[in-house]
Amino acid sequence: MSTLELRAIDKSFDPVKVIHQVDLDVRDGEFVVFVGPSGCGKSTLLRLIAGLDQPSGGEIRIDGQRVNEIGAADRGCAMVFQSYALYPHMTVYANMAFGLENIRMPRAEIETRVRAAAELLRLDALLQRKPTQLSGGQRQRVAIGRAIVRDPKIFLFDEPLSNLDAELRVSMRAELRALHQRLRATMVYVTHDQVEAMTLADRIVVLRAGRIEQVGTPQQLHDRPDNVFVAGFIGSPR
Ligand code: ADP
Ligand code: MG
Repeated sequence: MSTLELRAIDKSFDPVKVIHQVDLDVRDGEFVVFVGPSGCGKSTLLRLIAGLDQPSGGEIRIDGQRVNEIGAADRGCAMVFQSYALYPHMTVYANMAFGLENIRMPRAEIETRVRAAAELLRLDALLQRKPTQLSGGQRQRVAIGRAIVRDPKIFLFDEPLSNLDAELRVSMRAELRALHQRLRATMVYVTHDQVEAMTLADRIVVLRAGRIEQVGTPQQLHDRPDNVFVAGFIGSPR
């Protein structure tokens, strides 16, 4: 489990500034959801936390240590994408094992981790299948499994449910909450879907045009929105 601190984070894609002075503390084991309209900077922020891109200003700390100069591979964050990004020619087992084989983890340890993650995600019976032989929900569980086996300090989710149909999205929300309960891991989750944010989050960060509008529990945002934007955004169901 780990803490995450963002201090005065700026990001420009020259000449346009897309993230402005973002300050945030994520507690150990907390499930924080970034919510905001398309283009407000959610994915950019996640990529900065993961180390896939560099901030133009400010400091990122994990467990109190500055990580700006630490590359993505050594930062201890695992990211789960909307597009799953599974290898189509590999089995479920191989997809989950791949990242660990790359870092030359012993085979027995890899097998232990993959089997434990598969059990947690109810994928045990599907380990020899290829991604094309899975449903959308099962594919997304494999993508989550690939993150779990790495035993990351922080899980980062970028709209992981957006490609699923409405019914599946609802059941996957419950699965993600249950997973968080089981793992007690620090999770940062990005979505443009207010309902998803309200159901999943311990705390919600509302973003608008690269700035934080408000941070609070779902209850706080619902009961005491700071401004019209937050009230409108949280209040309007999709
Ligand atoms: P969100 O994930 O909230 O939809 P993004 O973080 O993807 O938003 O994008 C935030 C803003 O940054 C958008 O205006 C987008 O066009 C811009 N942007 C994102 N990535 C790049 C990039 N690599 N180069 C230039 N502009 C980018
Ligand atoms: Mg995005």
